[in-house]
Amino acid sequence: MSNVLVINAGSSSLKYQLVDPESGDAAAKGLIERVGTSGGHLKHESGKQVDERDIDVPDHTAAVAAMREAIERGGITLGPDTVAAVGHRIVHGGRNFTEPTLIDERVESEIERVSVLAPLHNPAGLAGIRSAREAFPDLPHVAVFDTAFFADLPAPAATYAIDRTVTREHAIRRYGFHGTSHEYVSAQVARFLGRDDLRQVVLHLGNGASASAVLAGRPVETSMGLTPLEGLVMGTRSGDIDPGIPLHLSRVAGLDVDGIDDLLNRRSGIYGLSGHRDFRDLVSAKDGGDDDARLAFEVYVHRLVKYVGAYAAVLGGIDALTFAAGVGENSAPLRAAVLERLGFLGLTLDPHRNEERSGQARRVDSGEGLPAVLVVPTNEEWAIARHAVETART
Ligand code: ADP
Repeated sequence: MSNVLVINAGSSSLKYQLVDPESGDAAAKGLIERVGTSGGHLKHESGKQVDERDIDVPDHTAAVAAMREAIERGGITLGPDTVAAVGHRIVHGGRNFTEPTLIDERVESEIERVSVLAPLHNPAGLAGIRSAREAFPDLPHVAVFDTAFFADLPAPAATYAIDRTVTREHAIRRYGFHGTSHEYVSAQVARFLGRDDLRQVVLHLGNGASASAVLAGRPVETSMGLTPLEGLVMGTRSGDIDPGIPLHLSRVAGLDVDGIDDLLNRRSGIYGLSGHRDFRDLVSAKDGGDDDARLAFEVYVHRLVKYVGAYAAVLGGIDALTFAAGVGENSAPLRAAVLERLGFLGLTLDPHRNEERSGQARRVDSGEGLPAVLVVPTNEEWAIARHAVETART
């Protein structure tokens, strides 16, 4: 059985995984950091073997070469006999990319055109595509878009109440992100509970964080918008704020566009409120009596409670609430704080189930029927791998 090489190229990093699309098992995976700056670093894992070293990675082409070398050093030659497809995670698909797409020159140009909507993300994704297509010209390359799952979000949920001539001219609407994860997790929940007609709320809580409302497998609301800045409180991003704040700051604090971008994307969220980027550190500081950490935790929880309540209204009730990604899967105190305030929706939390750790999808509520509260480990690489083989086959 052939594997899929999944590539997630960021502006200064390249994450990769060689995944079996049937089982989700990774034969190899790695992370190359500080691409394009000095002090490049590679961490490669294959089975129990970990290869970690400093390397020189002036650009994404060098990063792809380093990835190839690391994988091939482990005894797997990358080529048509071993790799069915290369799957590229692309953040923004704009209006035109509504499903995974086989990449050719035209698709590359279109991703470039869409970059205006995601200037922090798409250029890196494109650099990853170009370098990988050059390195592996005989393999099919497939772009899997973070926005695709939300492409047919109902118009009332996708539309900003701004002058329609402006929104139409500049393709301004709510696109939603983390779609691969929301799609994967909501499908896992439907399978786990044995029903496909569920009213689901999925909370993807990693460094970036987003919520979605999914009705019978289709998304009807999501918290991220034109960009991944809207919605929940995140590691370093503010999520929802009064849109008047940037205007006010530009008038009274002399902040320009880049200054505001830096403030809201990199100096806000739990980091801006508490000085902690990592959720574990935030919880320890809160438990140690740090007032800023306590407030940051409470703001994070409050926003989640508000969104779950709003999505319950959108869905007409909740059958399943699911926690996923780094914070969602691992932070029992966070789940406890959120569920403590959601009893009015019939949602419960079993303290013992909540503390159990496992890499499997599991229920953490105290009941057997519905509504259910679940923890589902997300696996975006596996989802991308499955999309990539399906698309390459057709
Ligand atoms: P990304 O969005 O970068 O993919 P992840 O989904 O890996 O992020 O989530 C990263 C976040 O998960 C970090 O804030 C980290 O603190 C948090 N996290 C990881 N493990 C735990 C844990 N055991 N308890 C609480 N938070 C955790």
